[in-house]
Amino acid sequence: SQQIHLVSRPTGIPTQANFAQVDVTLPDLNDGEVLIKNTWMSVDPYMRPRMIDRKSYIAPFNLNEVMEAGAIGEVIESRNDDFPVGSKVSHISGWRTLHISDGSDLTLLPNVPLPDQLFLSTMGMTGLTAWAGLTKVISLKETDTVFVSAASGAVGSVVCQIAKLKGCKVIASVGSDEKAQMVEALGVDAVINYKTVANLTEALEQAAPQGIDVYFENVGGDHLEAALNVMNDYGRIPVCGMISGYNNDTAQPGPSNLFYINSKKLTMQGFIVIDYFDQFPEFIEQMGAWISEGKIKSEETVYHGIENAVDAFLGLFEGKNKGKMLVKL
Ligand code: NDP
Repeated sequence: SQQIHLVSRPTGIPTQANFAQVDVTLPDLNDGEVLIKNTWMSVDPYMRPRMIDRKSYIAPFNLNEVMEAGAIGEVIESRNDDFPVGSKVSHISGWRTLHISDGSDLTLLPNVPLPDQLFLSTMGMTGLTAWAGLTKVISLKETDTVFVSAASGAVGSVVCQIAKLKGCKVIASVGSDEKAQMVEALGVDAVINYKTVANLTEALEQAAPQGIDVYFENVGGDHLEAALNVMNDYGRIPVCGMISGYNNDTAQPGPSNLFYINSKKLTMQGFIVIDYFDQFPEFIEQMGAWISEGKIKSEETVYHGIENAVDAFLGLFEGKNKGKMLVKL
């Protein structure tokens, strides 16, 4: 099995030198085990904080071991009747081409006419994050004006579309004109290219003269500061992530205007998608219907081969993806 190991803890922006591709010979299967050939893997921003050795909601990656990532694979050898040869499964043992499992970590892909990799994106973890953030963490109302950062990404692009389906006005922030076109095609009402505007607060005020009621927080830093400036009273901020700080080695100054949480009576609520895994059936039913009705589109950017998986991961921090960043193995 070709595996990607974390060989040193990054400081600042990770580089190729923090990773190594290692050829590992796997043992023969025991009774109850299956051999899986991975076909797709996911790279995600949360992997960067997992490279730091500290206590968090999930254990850090160990040095000189293969990392974890959401993956889809096909059973190519089986000594487990629940997963015969040819079964398609999802699991979290990505960053490797082959995986041996006793079945306890495997979920069979539902038999639906959708591309397999959607179970790593819109029908998987990032779709669930968008859906849970809008419908469970806050309850979105059709009268809400919603501001979404990293709006062309895996989570953001689904947030934009769900909010439009609910009837909201949606303002998107993205890092390029090409991404602006993409989110406009998804139906958002206004787009800000944060890399070209002189002042993010002014750009947001122009896009939302009536103020914003919901800020779906993916980025942090200047985006949070601008959102706080433009929030209406009783605004809600589901805090999904703050990618702009993931490569910072030292603590950065917070927004200067946090007092607005008090004076505007705002609610900020952090959440982690793991806590919503038990709602997967409800999510799959809703999202599957939206996708089959053509109401939600799945954007993706695909890198090919395990040897390019690190580049795909690093690309997340350079904005190289539109929609879900995926690796086809
Ligand atoms: P994306 O597909 O959105 O990819 C990351 C994008 O972030 C890039 O394409 C880039 O787009 C943008 N970005 C990168 N660096 C910066 C920066 N310094 N400032 C502003 N934008 C930046 O990734 P995901 O959809 O997987 O994740 C989006 C957010 O959601 C992250 O914060 C992630 O940690 C969080 N998340 C949280 C989960 C949870 O359980 N709470 C689960 C999944 C994701 P651009 O070109 O527009 O800059």
